[in-house]
Amino acid sequence: MFFAFKINPILVKKELMKIAVFSTKNYDREFFEKFNDPAQHQITYFDSPLNIDTTILAKGFEGVCVFVNDIINKDTIAKIASYDIKIIGLRCAGFNNVDIRAATERKIKVARVPAYSPHAVAEHTVALILTLNRKTHKAFNRVRENNFSLEKLMGFNLYEKAIGVIGTGQIGAAFCKIMLGFGCKVLAYDIFESEALKKAGVTYISLDELLQSSDIISLHCPLSPETRHIINAATLSKMKPGAMLINTGRGALINTKDVIDALKSEKLGYLGIDVYEQEAEIFFRDLSESIIQDDVLTHLMTFPNVLVTAHQGFFTKEALEQIVKTTLMNFSDFEKGLLLKNEVTD
Ligand code: NAD
Repeated sequence: MFFAFKINPILVKKELMKIAVFSTKNYDREFFEKFNDPAQHQITYFDSPLNIDTTILAKGFEGVCVFVNDIINKDTIAKIASYDIKIIGLRCAGFNNVDIRAATERKIKVARVPAYSPHAVAEHTVALILTLNRKTHKAFNRVRENNFSLEKLMGFNLYEKAIGVIGTGQIGAAFCKIMLGFGCKVLAYDIFESEALKKAGVTYISLDELLQSSDIISLHCPLSPETRHIINAATLSKMKPGAMLINTGRGALINTKDVIDALKSEKLGYLGIDVYEQEAEIFFRDLSESIIQDDVLTHLMTFPNVLVTAHQGFFTKEALEQIVKTTLMNFSDFEKGLLLKNEVTD
């Protein structure tokens, strides 16, 4: 004999996955609220970053969601593992701020957003180049004060200049294509060469050759032990005098003190950075009424040929939408026991 049971969905409803979102800004909250299915994830937002001092906030959650300046080192991982955190969801592509090995040892999964909008960062890179070159930031202020003089605003043509791209993954490739469109000669260095980029007109050469031949050098490789301070006194000395250096990758790709020396000696002609080695204490905050304690950054900002933006390369509505959608998908896939296709493994 068979009995038919009508199952009450409320009784069998699985508990919501509780996620703590760290380093939350208003725009993060806005996009999470727009795309989260409240029947699936119960999100709590914290303004503070996740690091060893704030781990207690993660208690009672199953997943934590973090951004570029949260510090998920071995100690942070040990602590959140003791709270039974099962997954770390990065809202970014880079994962240099997470000790992946420690997470694996503690059986905590790590997932990231490998490609949300490489164009967002590539286009910001071009914005830095054009601003430094054509000095639109200075022209904007000048004209508003009725100063229509062109003195000291002279730039140079990008057409036929040699652009050196270090790292031709998602962002580097998008950047190469834009610069080919400007009529530039695009040179590249990567540990893996892209056949598609070669076909498009990019020439792969050694790092030394790239340093020696480029008018503009742009960094798009991840931060790793191999790439930390890839731009240092020795590599700067190989560059063309007056070259432009752009870093939208990670701050520690360049040795900032060495770069300041190169700017002072006029070996380096221009510097555009969207990332800074010590940015964690400064970027993403309004410090307009504060005294900045970082003398290296304040010194850097006194140079007329230096442009600093505060890690905004990713910051387009298309990119934020993709970041949030992929992050929520990563948590859902984990919860459903599906293959975590954006997992970062040791
Ligand atoms: P990706 O993984 O697609 O590409 C990285 C490329 O660097 C790969 O082709 C890889 O082979 C190459 N590479 C690795 N080690 C290298 C080495 N030692 N020397 C030369 N090349 C090397 O990554 P992506 O999506 O293009 O992002 C690149 C980096 O940009 C990220 O790691 C992140 O740090 C940074 N980023 C910055 C922002 C921002 O807002 N400014 C946003 C997203 C990403």
